Amino acid sequence: MHDESPLGAPDVPLAPLTTLGLGGPASRLLRTSEPEVLARALDAAALAEMPVFVLGGGSNLLVSDAGFPGLVVQLAPGRLALHADGTVTADAGVAWETVVDAAVDAGLAGLECLTGIPGTVGAAPIQNIGAYGQEVADVLTGLTAWDRVAGRMVELTHADCDFGYRDSGFKRAPDRHVVLSVTLRLVPGGAPTVRYDELRRRVSERVGSEPTLAEVRREVRHLRRGKAMLLDAETLAGPDARSAGSFFTNPLLDAAAAAALPADAPRHGQPDGRVKVPAAWLIEQSGVSRGFALGPAAVSTRHTLALVNRGGARAADLLRLAAWVRRAVRRRFGVTLTPEPVFLGFPEGVEATLDAAERSLEG
Ligand SMILES: Cc1cc2nc3c(=O)[nH]c(=O)nc-3n(C[C@H](O)[C@H](O)[C@H](O)COP(=O)(O)OP(=O)(O)OC[C@H]3O[C@@H](n4cnc5c(N)ncnc54)[C@H](O)[C@@H]3O)c2cc1C
Repeated sequence: MHDESPLGAPDVPLAPLTTLGLGGPASRLLRTSEPEVLARALDAAALAEMPVFVLGGGSNLLVSDAGFPGLVVQLAPGRLALHADGTVTADAGVAWETVVDAAVDAGLAGLECLTGIPGTVGAAPIQNIGAYGQEVADVLTGLTAWDRVAGRMVELTHADCDFGYRDSGFKRAPDRHVVLSVTLRLVPGGAPTVRYDELRRRVSERVGSEPTLAEVRREVRHLRRGKAMLLDAETLAGPDARSAGSFFTNPLLDAAAAAALPADAPRHGQPDGRVKVPAAWLIEQSGVSRGFALGPAAVSTRHTLALVNRGGARAADLLRLAAWVRRAVRRRFGVTLTPEPVFLGFPEGVEATLDAAERSLEG
């Protein structure tokens, strides 16, 4: 049915548009690949004083049970172009894996470890997606966005994105830019990145010392499958199908906090002097094991960092479990974990929402 409103369709359930498969509806949802249609919708939303949220594939998203009282815009798939010099341009609505596939097939190095990450191109810079030793900030040279404050299209450089670990300026100011397309600079004929320990071991056992891009991509997919972090038929048929990937980021501790951890804690020194500690290790050492469940929300049976909807979970169930895990780690190590997914429809904000969920555990 054609909807004449610039704001799209009313009262659209969001749960089916997310990988966690939970949460309430959006007041309005508009799907488009046209910047002019997007601009009209943003104007109409501003006039109606409606909040706006840009949705990709919903794979890094926790939607509240009440849903979102505003306009959700989803960018439809668009163009992908690869050039002989290694430049790749892709529209925001293109599936991220389509870009990885095309790059590996064309012999362009730089994305082979970023295979198997669900979602869209437009979301990739938001949390600076990363895995197995690569992150999108390594290859992104610029992007085109709609600037909601200026009301026009803008070209942003790598420096403008202000990337950090699973972070960017976009994540910190979510109401400013809608990413429309990104430009990546890959390396034609370049060697694959085999930096991450687990991947290095696997590649040297299975492939040898001169792996191709396709071989590294294959081994990354194998490792991801083992952790139910690849949404293929096997994972989708199992108990860990509905997650948002890692629910917590790996904490970056200052030297004193890191020194206070037990001697056997894994530690990864960062160039700025901080120390990254695997959140999965902290969780396991706090007595929360894989498969631990609070009602229909559970820790993945394959990966301690993923919280899953086992079927019929509400956002409140997932939050209780997240609060349980966060509390266990804080009590054991004095470290407060930070959630990775974006919270939508929680007016109090992430911390206050988790604090309230934690209080409900005690009640
Ligand atoms: C099984 C599984 C494995 C995962 N593995 C990884 C991993 O290895 N590494 C990793 O980094 N992440 C991982 N993730 C998280 C997720 O896939 C990525 O963060 C992905 O980039 C999210 O894309 P999306 O299109 O689904 O975004 P959404 O979840 O729809 O949105 C995420 C954020 O991006 C914003 N956004 C989306 N599109 C745009 C746009 N065009 N303009 C402006 N803002 C936009 C949204 O507003 C929101 O703030 C995993 C998730 C799952 C379910």
